[in-house]
Amino acid sequence: MNASLSIEGADALLRPPEDGLPYLRHDRAASMTLEPGALACADDAIAALSDDPGAAVRFDASGATVIPGLVDCHTHLPFAGWRAREYEQKVTGVPYEEIARSGGGIAASARALAESSDEAVLAQAAGIGREMLAWGTTTFEGKSGYGLSRAGELRALRLAAALRERVAQGTVATALLAHAVPPGFTADGWMDEVEAMLPTVVRETVAESLDIFVESIAFSNEHLARMGALAREHGLALRAHVEQLATHRSVPVALDAGARSVDHLSRLHPDDVAPLARSECAAVLLPSAELMNAEDAAPGRALVDAGAICVLATDANPGTSPVVALPIVIGLGVRRYGWSAREAFLAATLNAAHVLGRAASIGSIEIGKRADLVVLDGPLEHVPYRFGHHPVLAVVLGGELAWVREDARDRVRA
Ligand SMILES: [Zn+2]
Repeated sequence: MNASLSIEGADALLRPPEDGLPYLRHDRAASMTLEPGALACADDAIAALSDDPGAAVRFDASGATVIPGLVDCHTHLPFAGWRAREYEQKVTGVPYEEIARSGGGIAASARALAESSDEAVLAQAAGIGREMLAWGTTTFEGKSGYGLSRAGELRALRLAAALRERVAQGTVATALLAHAVPPGFTADGWMDEVEAMLPTVVRETVAESLDIFVESIAFSNEHLARMGALAREHGLALRAHVEQLATHRSVPVALDAGARSVDHLSRLHPDDVAPLARSECAAVLLPSAELMNAEDAAPGRALVDAGAICVLATDANPGTSPVVALPIVIGLGVRRYGWSAREAFLAATLNAAHVLGRAASIGSIEIGKRADLVVLDGPLEHVPYRFGHHPVLAVVLGGELAWVREDARDRVRA
């Protein structure tokens, strides 16, 4: 074996209870193992669960925990600018209607995107990508949705493809074609436009999923069902922002439509927990959006106990969640939902890879999977407990050290 990298003497390796799982239902999260170990990488992949003294690069992982690279399956990258002024208005009590009337909200980000050059948008997103890498994110998803016109959405998806060339991580693009109703359209009229543009989206963009925001200020359950039919017709996965601000009973509609994930769920109806937990549709919870937007906590403990496929993501966006660090989101998830560290890390690795259709290649430490790894500077439980601490010693992408913390450089032997 010509190992590119050998990670040696780790206090713990976080591993699934068996290899080849497409996901792990959350009532089985406690079966994930944390045992001392080592691993060797070759040809982009995990080649052995033992060290290799002949490896080109060796990393001393004593005192450390090695986990699969974190997977952020719900962000709104690339976007243009930030909305800090609006956040200050929100927390100091200015009503949302007033913020929206003065040009805030999704419309503000749409305007910023339209007014920004491709280069400016990509430079900002690439910078965020580097920040995410240092926090352990090795794959992330991004959405369109600030285009708010046929040309604008296609441009956003082209920018998503261009971003792949600018970041070290793997990326996955989602066409959030129904985010806000564009000016001059009714919701029904915009869905006609979505239907008309889909052949172009499939032919000319890298989008793998369709997404929709179901809320009284956006789209309805009927539009969700229609988006599901369109996703099926065009061979795309369906995802949906649902039950964020109010209870609309969108989850049964999403399950009927064959959704791969339902995201947010702050206002999930109790009767919808069991059917969701029985399905292969993931419950994507976004605790940083809940915190920053002062929303209810999703019923994370109930979903875990019912055996749902739970997922944590940042929802990184300039409005409701300007948070890009998954370890922070893991800390929030543990506190808000009453989860163990294992439950939270399962939600940001294997089960997040399932949402992106990537669980066969990433999301867990298994021989043959892509060697995307994170070395933590202490026990797994320290990440949620030392809330806000930067816990990442090193990040491995495809079997190569992609980022090493300054104080960990002397652990590297080349
Ligand atoms: Zn979102």
